[in-house]
Amino acid sequence: MTAAVNLPKSHKGAVPVRQTKLLIDGAFHDAASGRTFATIDPSTEEVIAEVAEAGPEDVDRAVRAARAALEDGPWARMDARERGRLLMKWADLIEANMEELARLEVLDNGKPIAEALGYDIPSAAATIRYFAGWADKIEGRTIPVSGPFFTYTRREPVGVCGLIIPWNFPLAMAAWKLGPALAAGCAAILKPAEQTPLTALRAGELALEAGVPPGVLNILPGFGGGGAGEAIVKHPGVDKIAFTGEYRTAQIIKRETADSMKRLTFELGGKSPNIVFEDADLDAAVEGAFGAIFLNQGQNCCAGSRAFVHEKIYDRFVEKLAEKAAKRRIGDPLNSDTEHGPQIDQAQFEKIMRYIDLGREQGARLAAGGERVGEKGFYVAPTVFAEVRDEMAIATDEIFGPVVGVLKFKDADEAIRRANDSMFGLAGAVWTRDLDKANAVSARLRAGTVWVNCYNIVDPAAPFGGFKMSGVGRELGEEALNAYTETKTVTIRNG
Ligand code: NAD
Repeated sequence: MTAAVNLPKSHKGAVPVRQTKLLIDGAFHDAASGRTFATIDPSTEEVIAEVAEAGPEDVDRAVRAARAALEDGPWARMDARERGRLLMKWADLIEANMEELARLEVLDNGKPIAEALGYDIPSAAATIRYFAGWADKIEGRTIPVSGPFFTYTRREPVGVCGLIIPWNFPLAMAAWKLGPALAAGCAAILKPAEQTPLTALRAGELALEAGVPPGVLNILPGFGGGGAGEAIVKHPGVDKIAFTGEYRTAQIIKRETADSMKRLTFELGGKSPNIVFEDADLDAAVEGAFGAIFLNQGQNCCAGSRAFVHEKIYDRFVEKLAEKAAKRRIGDPLNSDTEHGPQIDQAQFEKIMRYIDLGREQGARLAAGGERVGEKGFYVAPTVFAEVRDEMAIATDEIFGPVVGVLKFKDADEAIRRANDSMFGLAGAVWTRDLDKANAVSARLRAGTVWVNCYNIVDPAAPFGGFKMSGVGRELGEEALNAYTETKTVTIRNG
């Protein structure tokens, strides 16, 4: 492992784990079964805490509490503006507790503290604040129908929402769902990923402090299939599921809700192309491609895992990218100087190492990384493969780790065709100085987000989501509110 571990600017020291129980109906409880599960620090492989493990009985209690909040509680009668005010207060409290939440996120997830402080926690607060602003602006329309009638629409909360999230950006993912759900007046049951339950629970405590009424926000750590996740999906009292995770899990959820007709939105995986034309600012493109894949150790749904580079600049691009990868500071994620932490767990670590082996076996050239770093913690060196061909496993599958394949192309049509030749369509980027080319390529990429001369720019106000197997529906921005509202048409006979 390289230097950083003992450098001074450490955020280490006791990270308080204040909350490990289930949040149901405004209070923290043990699981009905009494069961707990261990959450692990991926940088040391040691247990951080035992967390209550929700099961079907807890899900049922949470659904009843959420339903009561929606039908009889203060939430049901609250002015939309007051709802917004509570969410603003919650966002303020998240910001006020930034350092604690960031350290907790790092402990549980392994991401570098600079990323948790620079993105995860501030963006969670910003997202909740953005949607707080929408609470009193969710408007219907008046519609000029034929005859002596007056028709208007109301946008009503969809009801009890089951929000199931992954481990890569734990608090930010919670905010992407809770912000619009609560702003729209829904009640929520959030299931954090089993790997990373801690920040959601602490943020839940802060929501209570902000005055969010009992039953409105329930947080149930636990497992997916066979656990709390499946119980939420199957519960007849849940009106909507918003899920972020693997497409295979989404397929199961779709099958399990076919009969109940629950509303569904999905944010799934990606294999995002990053297309670098010969006229691009090479250093900026290398820098961008580097951040595109190595942010959060590659555990990013929109990771730029396929870099398509024009043949004229290909060799220089690979050399510069590999050089940067070799210099990345790997180490203790609680140290401010660390740029690259461990992967989330043993299973992901093994999956990534298998793909690295496959890359070698299938004939790609390893230009950087390709190995485990250290003996403790799930560290994988930033890995760059050159001479990658479209049919190789490292070019088709979502690895969800710090592995980028660099592919060579000759002209724009070819690059676009190959970039689109994927089951996924979450994001993509274009690097060029020619704005006409940038616009033309952006229009032809089959992806929910296209960045031009930048990457990973995600803002609470801009919709985010996938084409094809990368998802259904959009999160963030005004569009996210559609997922949490039902439109009701009211028609009145004019006197
Ligand atoms: P996962 O699908 O295994 O798990 C995600 C969540 O679903 C967890 O909370 C898990 O407990 C739960 N779950 C698992 N099986 C379930 C079931 N049968 N019923 C109900 N819930 C179940 O995914 P993961 O490995 O934790 O996350 C990585 C994936 O998430 C990647 O594919 C990544 O691209 C995707 N992701 C997408 C976005 C996006 O916005 N598009 C953002 C982050 C991550």
